[in-house]
Amino acid sequence: MQGLAERVESALVGATLTGVEALQFSALKTVVPAADAAVGHKVESVGRRGKYLLIDFLEGPRVVLHLSQGGRVDLEETPKRTRPKGAVVRLRFDGGPDVLVKEFGTERKAAWWVLAPGDLGPLDGLGPEPFSEEFASLIRTGDDKRRVHTMLRDQRTVAGIGRGHTDDILHLAQLSPYATLSSLSADERERLLTAVHEILEDALVGERKRTGGLPTKLSDRFVVHGRAGHPCPRCGDDLRRVSYESHEVAYCPTCQTGGKVLADRRLSRLIR
Ligand SMILES: [Zn+2]
Repeated sequence: MQGLAERVESALVGATLTGVEALQFSALKTVVPAADAAVGHKVESVGRRGKYLLIDFLEGPRVVLHLSQGGRVDLEETPKRTRPKGAVVRLRFDGGPDVLVKEFGTERKAAWWVLAPGDLGPLDGLGPEPFSEEFASLIRTGDDKRRVHTMLRDQRTVAGIGRGHTDDILHLAQLSPYATLSSLSADERERLLTAVHEILEDALVGERKRTGGLPTKLSDRFVVHGRAGHPCPRCGDDLRRVSYESHEVAYCPTCQTGGKVLADRRLSRLIR
């Protein structure tokens, strides 16, 4: 998301919004200000907060886009009239490319907001950024009883870490997907914090190399996420998967759970 925000910003700063096409009506989450309230205003900056892309307009409202898992942003250099499958919204600009937000898959979670100045909208209650001091001290001293995997994915706890990166973070930190923060030693907490930073930095480097929006195939950019059955890049053993909270979590038993294969709770409930 950070790389995407940087790309969109360099393409759009100074461009004037000329039109808004809501292509999937349920995706617009605000009624007031109107969807086209920013038309006629120039883009002042484009930023990111958590998984949200923020477009700020000079003396105008803020447009917030949430891409969810299968979302992507296309910058259209020549104006198009098409309405591709999964199209969510198209923002038309004078002095910059049009922005088309699309979403793949069936989740239909992409959403956007038009916010009056000072209205935080969906950003209200969002946790600290992963590189902040606040997050570092939460990891070093927090006594959260939840699983680290659950915690890192909770946007109110820390903003902008998805489940794919969470799998990779725990693998790099050599921690079990079932480990709780309160049970970690000081060493393990440092390893976790370092892993969060390294995985997110690597992801940003990868993202900056791309020119389009987010790639269609997300699994290509993960180390262990979505790669169960493939060899662990550290030890070569087979990566495993376990389901909980309706997520598939990939991990390496040798590197992360002392060789123990985690029970699939969904499955064991069926057997019982
Ligand atoms: Zn391994």
